[in-house]
Amino acid sequence: MAAHRLRPCVGRLFGMGPELGSGRRAYSAFQAFTEVLRLPSKQLTKLVFPLQELHGHFVPGSRPDLHLNIFHPSLEDIARAESFFTASARNRIEYLSSAVRLDHAPDLRRPEVCFIGRSNVGKSSLIKALFSLAPEVEVRVSKKPGHTKKINFYKVGKHFTLVDMPGYGYRAPEDFVDMVETYLKERKNLMRTFLLVDSVVGIQKADNIAIEMCEEFALPYVMVLTKIDKSSKGHLLKQVLQIQKFVDTKTQGCFPQLFPVSAMTCSGIHLLRCFIADITGNLKTTGFQFS
Ligand code: GDP
Repeated sequence: MAAHRLRPCVGRLFGMGPELGSGRRAYSAFQAFTEVLRLPSKQLTKLVFPLQELHGHFVPGSRPDLHLNIFHPSLEDIARAESFFTASARNRIEYLSSAVRLDHAPDLRRPEVCFIGRSNVGKSSLIKALFSLAPEVEVRVSKKPGHTKKINFYKVGKHFTLVDMPGYGYRAPEDFVDMVETYLKERKNLMRTFLLVDSVVGIQKADNIAIEMCEEFALPYVMVLTKIDKSSKGHLLKQVLQIQKFVDTKTQGCFPQLFPVSAMTCSGIHLLRCFIADITGNLKTTGFQFS
């Protein structure tokens, strides 16, 4: 497993020196939004609104189908959202427990968001990046073949619980599917499911397991495109358009705006934090614009 080798949000985006990457978990200056606000506007857009930055590569008006502004909070909203993810004595962010069955899950009144995706899609890296303002949080990883896959619960202050679902493969065993399925179907406080898709390879057969589950249970879910730093701009644009078309034509419950992210450069992470803070009812942003 190589997740520990990926240092979330090291300053590669703008060719910063490797010194930011040293240490067990390294943190770039860009994890704190105050530092982000000091960036020149082009770099800020690339880091905070990666979809919008991609859109800048099209002829103006040529792709009205790309849903850029359904969730487009102000920079102030994004800055406010950071506080929910910043650990302090009054805002404890910590691993709570693990469960193999839903009846082992903590009975929580807090809203929940869950992260689901194929093994290797970049789920643990993304969760580490989201929690990079709480460096004490230990993100649990159990990938060794034969080890029981568990659902891991993380408490984010008094605000919400973040749930890390086991990664699945094409041949997900039946008991594993049952565990995930039962959680998705029955968890009453589940506010949103974040379904991760690797932006390098796009939607794979195994991803359809999760997509079908979300659709079947009429869950509100969001597609997060991981590892966007890995592809050339051209390849990424092609993937984004293909996945957008899939969302528009083949899904009912999927949020129409995609969330491209990189755990490596931190691109898209601040926006995702803000979205989570909003949909869990903790932060009323001016970000949602349905017309
Ligand atoms: P998981 O199995 O879904 O938890 O995936 P991991 O987070 O362990 O990531 C799988 C592999 O992809 C590891 O080698 C990571 O270092 C790599 N990876 C994850 N996220 C990113 C990313 O945003 N950018 C790049 N370049 N690599 C990533």
